[in-house]
Amino acid sequence: MTQPQAGWQSTLASTVLLAGTLLTQATAAPDFGLEKVAEGIYVHRGQQQDATAANGGDIANIGYIVGDRCVAVIDSGGSLAIGTALRDAIRRAAAKPVCYLIHTHVHPDHSFGDAAFKDPATVFVAHGEYPAALAARRDGFLAKLESTLGAAADGSGSASPTLLVSDRETLDLGNRRLRLQAWPTAHTNNDLTVLDERTQTLWTGDLLFVDRIPVVDGRALGWLKVMAALRALKPAHLIPGHGPAQHDADIAFGPQQQYLDQLVSSVRAALKARSTLAQTVDTLGNQPPQKAWLLFNDYHRRNVTAVYTELEWED
Ligand SMILES: [Zn+2]
Repeated sequence: MTQPQAGWQSTLASTVLLAGTLLTQATAAPDFGLEKVAEGIYVHRGQQQDATAANGGDIANIGYIVGDRCVAVIDSGGSLAIGTALRDAIRRAAAKPVCYLIHTHVHPDHSFGDAAFKDPATVFVAHGEYPAALAARRDGFLAKLESTLGAAADGSGSASPTLLVSDRETLDLGNRRLRLQAWPTAHTNNDLTVLDERTQTLWTGDLLFVDRIPVVDGRALGWLKVMAALRALKPAHLIPGHGPAQHDADIAFGPQQQYLDQLVSSVRAALKARSTLAQTVDTLGNQPPQKAWLLFNDYHRRNVTAVYTELEWED
Protein backbone atom coordinates (compact mmCIF):
# COMPACT_ATOMS: atom_id res chain seq x y z
CA MET A 1 0.00 0.00 0.00
CA THR A 2 2.76 2.37 0.96
CA GLN A 3 4.54 2.26 -2.32
CA PRO A 4 1.51 2.98 -4.60
CA GLN A 5 0.41 5.77 -2.28
CA ALA A 6 3.85 7.37 -2.38
CA GLY A 7 3.74 7.02 -6.15
CA TRP A 8 0.31 8.60 -6.32
CA GLN A 9 1.43 11.46 -4.08
CA SER A 10 4.54 11.90 -6.13
CA THR A 11 2.47 11.96 -9.33
CA LEU A 12 0.08 14.47 -7.83
CA ALA A 13 2.99 16.61 -6.68
CA SER A 14 4.49 16.49 -10.18
CA THR A 15 1.13 17.37 -11.71
CA VAL A 16 0.73 20.36 -9.40
CA LEU A 17 4.31 21.42 -10.12
CA LEU A 18 3.78 21.02 -13.86
CA ALA A 19 0.53 22.98 -13.74
CA GLY A 20 2.30 25.71 -11.79
CA THR A 21 5.13 25.81 -14.28
CA LEU A 22 2.72 25.97 -17.22
CA LEU A 23 0.77 28.72 -15.50
CA THR A 24 3.96 30.69 -14.85
CA GLN A 25 5.07 30.21 -18.44
CA ALA A 26 1.66 31.21 -19.76
CA THR A 27 1.70 34.35 -17.63
CA ALA A 28 5.24 35.23 -18.72
CA ALA A 29 4.84 34.53 -22.44
CA PRO A 30 5.03 37.88 -24.21
CA ASP A 31 2.24 38.95 -26.54
CA PHE A 32 2.30 41.62 -29.30
CA GLY A 33 3.44 38.84 -31.63
CA LEU A 34 6.81 38.64 -29.90
CA GLU A 35 8.85 35.62 -30.96
CA LYS A 36 11.63 34.13 -28.86
CA VAL A 37 14.82 34.02 -30.93
CA ALA A 38 17.20 32.89 -28.18
CA GLU A 39 17.10 32.70 -24.39
CA GLY A 40 15.76 36.03 -23.11
CA ILE A 41 15.58 37.62 -26.59
CA TYR A 42 12.23 38.50 -28.15
CA VAL A 43 11.40 40.06 -31.51
CA HIS A 44 8.25 41.62 -32.91
CA ARG A 45 8.45 41.29 -36.68
CA GLY A 46 7.19 44.20 -38.70
CA GLN A 47 5.32 43.61 -41.95
CA GLN A 48 7.35 43.47 -45.15
CA GLN A 49 5.70 46.59 -46.57
CA ASP A 50 6.12 50.34 -46.70
CA ALA A 51 4.25 52.26 -44.00
CA THR A 52 0.52 52.61 -44.75
CA ALA A 53 -2.58 53.58 -42.79
CA ALA A 54 -3.56 49.90 -42.82
CA ASN A 55 -0.34 48.62 -41.20
CA GLY A 56 0.04 51.67 -38.94
CA GLY A 57 3.76 51.92 -39.73
CA ASP A 58 4.43 48.52 -38.15
CA ILE A 59 7.07 47.53 -40.70
CA ALA A 60 10.37 47.10 -38.81
CA ASN A 61 11.68 44.45 -36.43
CA ILE A 62 11.82 45.62 -32.83
CA GLY A 63 12.20 43.79 -29.52
CA TYR A 64 14.10 43.34 -26.29
CA ILE A 65 16.72 41.46 -24.30
CA VAL A 66 16.19 40.49 -20.66
CA GLY A 67 18.97 40.56 -18.06
CA ASP A 68 18.84 39.79 -14.33
CA ARG A 69 18.52 43.47 -13.42
CA CYS A 70 16.73 45.08 -16.35
CA VAL A 71 15.69 45.00 -19.99
CA ALA A 72 17.25 46.57 -23.08
CA VAL A 73 14.83 47.50 -25.87
CA ILE A 74 16.18 47.49 -29.41
CA ASP A 75 14.32 50.07 -31.52
CA SER A 76 10.92 51.48 -30.65
CA GLY A 77 8.91 50.98 -33.87
CA GLY A 78 7.26 53.21 -36.44
CA SER A 79 4.75 55.06 -34.25
CA LEU A 80 3.88 55.86 -30.66
CA ALA A 81 1.18 53.16 -30.73
CA ILE A 82 3.73 50.50 -31.72
CA GLY A 83 6.23 51.64 -29.07
CA THR A 84 3.45 51.57 -26.47
CA ALA A 85 2.40 48.05 -27.48
CA LEU A 86 5.99 46.86 -27.12
CA ARG A 87 6.42 48.62 -23.76
CA ASP A 88 3.21 47.11 -22.37
CA ALA A 89 4.10 43.61 -23.59
CA ILE A 90 7.48 43.91 -21.84
CA ARG A 91 5.83 45.06 -18.61
CA ARG A 92 3.50 42.06 -18.63
CA ALA A 93 6.14 39.49 -19.55
CA ALA A 94 9.38 40.64 -17.95
CA ALA A 95 8.34 42.79 -14.97
CA LYS A 96 11.74 44.49 -14.99
CA PRO A 97 12.60 48.11 -15.74
CA VAL A 98 13.79 49.14 -19.19
CA CYS A 99 17.28 50.50 -18.52
CA TYR A 100 18.28 51.06 -22.17
CA LEU A 101 16.54 51.89 -25.43
CA ILE A 102 19.11 51.20 -28.11
CA HIS A 103 18.63 52.66 -31.59
CA THR A 104 20.07 50.72 -34.51
CA HIS A 105 19.80 53.82 -36.75
CA VAL A 106 17.75 56.94 -37.34
CA HIS A 107 15.10 55.69 -39.78
CA PRO A 108 11.59 56.46 -38.53
CA ASP A 109 10.18 52.93 -38.85
CA HIS A 110 12.66 51.95 -36.12
CA SER A 111 12.50 54.98 -33.84
CA PHE A 112 9.13 56.77 -33.94
CA GLY A 113 7.83 54.92 -30.86
CA ASP A 114 10.46 56.52 -28.59
CA ALA A 115 7.97 58.50 -26.48
CA ALA A 116 6.58 55.25 -25.06
CA PHE A 117 9.92 54.68 -23.29
CA LYS A 118 10.42 58.18 -21.91
CA ASP A 119 11.44 57.51 -18.31
CA PRO A 120 14.24 58.93 -16.13
CA ALA A 121 15.51 55.37 -15.61
CA THR A 122 15.82 54.63 -19.34
CA VAL A 123 18.98 55.65 -21.18
CA PHE A 124 18.50 56.29 -24.91
CA VAL A 125 21.54 54.94 -26.77
CA ALA A 126 22.58 55.67 -30.37
CA HIS A 127 25.51 56.06 -32.79
CA GLY A 128 27.58 59.23 -32.42
CA GLU A 129 26.32 60.54 -35.76
CA TYR A 130 22.67 59.95 -34.82
CA PRO A 131 21.84 63.38 -33.35
CA ALA A 132 23.00 65.27 -36.46
CA ALA A 133 21.20 62.84 -38.77
CA LEU A 134 18.05 63.19 -36.70
CA ALA A 135 18.22 67.00 -36.68
CA ALA A 136 18.59 67.05 -40.45
CA ARG A 137 15.68 64.72 -41.16
CA ARG A 138 13.26 64.76 -38.23
CA ASP A 139 10.80 67.23 -39.76
CA GLY A 140 10.68 65.45 -43.10
CA PHE A 141 10.20 62.06 -41.47
CA LEU A 142 7.38 63.41 -39.28
CA ALA A 143 5.57 65.13 -42.14
CA LYS A 144 5.68 61.88 -44.13
CA LEU A 145 4.28 59.82 -41.24
CA GLU A 146 1.52 62.37 -40.61
CA SER A 147 0.50 62.26 -44.26
CA THR A 148 0.45 58.45 -44.14
CA LEU A 149 -1.19 57.82 -40.77
CA GLY A 150 -3.12 61.04 -40.11
CA ALA A 151 -4.16 61.43 -36.47
CA ALA A 152 -2.68 57.98 -35.69
CA ALA A 153 0.76 59.62 -35.99
CA ASP A 154 0.11 61.93 -33.01
CA GLY A 155 2.84 61.68 -30.39
CA SER A 156 5.17 59.74 -32.68
CA GLY A 157 8.77 60.81 -33.24
CA SER A 158 12.40 60.10 -32.44
CA ALA A 159 13.83 61.35 -29.14
CA SER A 160 17.38 62.65 -28.67
CA PRO A 161 19.77 59.97 -27.39
CA THR A 162 21.52 60.47 -24.05
CA LEU A 163 24.38 57.99 -24.55
CA LEU A 164 26.31 58.15 -27.80
CA VAL A 165 28.55 55.36 -29.10
CA SER A 166 31.29 56.39 -31.50
CA ASP A 167 33.22 53.12 -31.53
CA ARG A 168 32.38 50.37 -29.02
CA GLU A 169 30.48 50.20 -25.77
CA THR A 170 29.48 47.40 -23.38
CA LEU A 171 26.20 47.54 -21.47
CA ASP A 172 25.37 45.22 -18.57
CA LEU A 173 21.75 44.19 -17.93
CA GLY A 174 22.72 42.15 -14.86
CA ASN A 175 24.72 39.03 -15.71
CA ARG A 176 24.11 39.82 -19.35
CA ARG A 177 26.53 41.94 -21.37
CA LEU A 178 25.69 43.55 -24.67
CA ARG A 179 28.49 44.64 -26.99
CA LEU A 180 27.53 47.66 -29.06
CA GLN A 181 29.47 48.72 -32.13
CA ALA A 182 29.13 51.91 -34.15
CA TRP A 183 30.00 51.39 -37.82
CA PRO A 184 31.34 53.63 -40.59
CA THR A 185 28.75 54.70 -43.18
CA ALA A 186 26.90 51.67 -44.62
CA HIS A 187 23.06 51.44 -44.73
CA THR A 188 23.15 54.93 -43.13
CA ASN A 189 25.88 57.00 -41.48
CA ASN A 190 24.63 55.98 -38.01
CA ASP A 191 24.34 52.17 -37.96
CA LEU A 192 24.80 50.53 -34.56
CA THR A 193 24.78 46.77 -33.87
CA VAL A 194 24.12 44.92 -30.62
CA LEU A 195 25.75 41.56 -29.84
CA ASP A 196 24.43 39.59 -26.87
CA GLU A 197 27.48 37.83 -25.42
CA ARG A 198 25.49 35.03 -23.76
CA THR A 199 23.68 33.72 -26.82
CA GLN A 200 25.86 35.28 -29.56
CA THR A 201 22.78 36.90 -31.03
CA LEU A 202 23.56 39.83 -33.31
CA TRP A 203 20.94 42.53 -33.69
CA THR A 204 21.89 44.06 -37.03
CA GLY A 205 19.31 46.79 -37.58
CA ASP A 206 19.08 47.54 -41.28
CA LEU A 207 22.63 46.37 -41.95
CA LEU A 208 20.76 43.20 -42.87
CA PHE A 209 17.58 42.99 -44.93
CA VAL A 210 16.05 39.54 -45.41
CA ASP A 211 13.63 39.03 -48.33
CA ARG A 212 12.94 42.78 -48.56
CA ILE A 213 15.23 44.73 -50.92
CA PRO A 214 18.15 46.48 -49.13
CA VAL A 215 17.98 50.28 -49.26
CA VAL A 216 21.17 52.32 -49.69
CA ASP A 217 20.86 55.50 -47.63
CA GLY A 218 24.61 55.59 -46.95
CA ARG A 219 27.40 54.00 -49.02
CA ALA A 220 27.20 50.65 -50.80
CA LEU A 221 30.99 50.17 -50.66
CA GLY A 222 31.01 50.93 -46.94
CA TRP A 223 28.12 48.54 -46.42
CA LEU A 224 29.94 45.69 -48.18
CA LYS A 225 32.94 46.20 -45.86
CA VAL A 226 30.74 46.29 -42.76
CA MET A 227 28.94 43.14 -43.89
CA ALA A 228 32.28 41.31 -44.13
CA ALA A 229 33.09 42.39 -40.56
CA LEU A 230 29.67 41.25 -39.30
CA ARG A 231 30.03 37.87 -40.98
CA ALA A 232 33.44 37.46 -39.35
CA LEU A 233 31.76 37.74 -35.93
CA LYS A 234 30.12 34.37 -36.72
CA PRO A 235 26.98 35.06 -34.67
CA ALA A 236 24.78 32.09 -33.75
CA HIS A 237 21.59 34.08 -34.40
CA LEU A 238 20.92 37.25 -36.38
CA ILE A 239 17.97 39.59 -36.07
CA PRO A 240 17.66 41.67 -39.24
CA GLY A 241 15.96 45.05 -39.46
CA HIS A 242 13.38 43.50 -41.77
CA GLY A 243 12.49 39.84 -42.29
CA PRO A 244 12.77 36.65 -40.25
CA ALA A 245 15.54 35.87 -37.77
CA GLN A 246 18.50 33.95 -39.17
CA HIS A 247 20.86 31.34 -37.76
CA ASP A 248 23.73 31.30 -40.24
CA ALA A 249 25.53 34.53 -41.09
CA ASP A 250 26.73 33.41 -44.54
CA ILE A 251 23.24 32.35 -45.59
CA ALA A 252 21.73 35.47 -44.04
CA PHE A 253 24.02 37.97 -45.78
CA GLY A 254 24.45 36.09 -49.08
CA PRO A 255 21.58 37.58 -51.13
CA GLN A 256 22.18 41.13 -49.89
CA GLN A 257 25.90 40.85 -50.67
CA GLN A 258 25.11 39.58 -54.16
CA TYR A 259 22.65 42.43 -54.77
CA LEU A 260 25.05 45.16 -53.62
CA ASP A 261 28.05 43.63 -55.44
CA GLN A 262 26.02 43.48 -58.64
CA LEU A 263 24.75 47.03 -58.16
CA VAL A 264 28.27 48.39 -57.66
CA SER A 265 29.75 46.54 -60.62
CA SER A 266 26.96 47.47 -63.03
CA VAL A 267 27.03 51.15 -62.03
CA ARG A 268 30.84 51.16 -62.40
CA ALA A 269 30.44 49.72 -65.91
CA ALA A 270 27.87 52.41 -66.75
CA LEU A 271 30.19 55.16 -65.49
CA LYS A 272 33.06 53.71 -67.52
CA ALA A 273 30.79 53.82 -70.57
CA ARG A 274 30.07 57.50 -69.74
CA SER A 275 26.35 56.89 -69.17
CA THR A 276 24.55 59.78 -67.53
CA LEU A 277 22.66 59.28 -64.28
CA ALA A 278 19.32 59.30 -66.13
CA GLN A 279 20.55 56.74 -68.69
CA THR A 280 21.95 54.52 -65.96
CA VAL A 281 18.78 54.59 -63.89
CA ASP A 282 16.77 53.87 -67.01
CA THR A 283 18.93 50.91 -68.07
CA LEU A 284 19.73 49.31 -64.71
CA GLY A 285 16.38 50.22 -63.21
CA ASN A 286 14.63 48.10 -65.81
CA GLN A 287 16.84 45.06 -65.44
CA PRO A 288 15.03 42.14 -63.84
CA PRO A 289 16.24 41.29 -60.33
CA GLN A 290 18.38 38.19 -59.78
CA LYS A 291 16.26 37.46 -56.74
CA ALA A 292 12.57 38.16 -56.17
CA TRP A 293 13.08 40.90 -53.57
CA LEU A 294 10.00 42.32 -51.91
CA LEU A 295 9.48 46.04 -52.75
CA PHE A 296 12.01 45.78 -55.62
CA ASN A 297 10.07 48.21 -57.82
CA ASP A 298 9.86 50.74 -55.01
CA TYR A 299 13.57 50.92 -54.19
CA HIS A 300 15.80 49.50 -56.89
CA ARG A 301 15.91 52.62 -59.08
CA ARG A 302 16.52 54.71 -55.98
CA ASN A 303 19.46 52.44 -55.10
CA VAL A 304 20.89 52.84 -58.62
CA THR A 305 20.75 56.62 -58.15
CA ALA A 306 22.41 56.43 -54.72
CA VAL A 307 25.22 54.19 -55.92
CA TYR A 308 25.80 56.24 -59.10
CA THR A 309 26.19 59.35 -56.95
CA GLU A 310 28.51 57.48 -54.60
CA LEU A 311 30.78 56.12 -57.33
CA GLU A 312 30.70 59.11 -59.71
CA TRP A 313 33.95 60.62 -58.43
CA GLU A 314 35.71 57.33 -57.76
CA ASP A 315 39.22 57.03 -59.30
ZN1 LIG B 1 16.75 51.73 -42.25
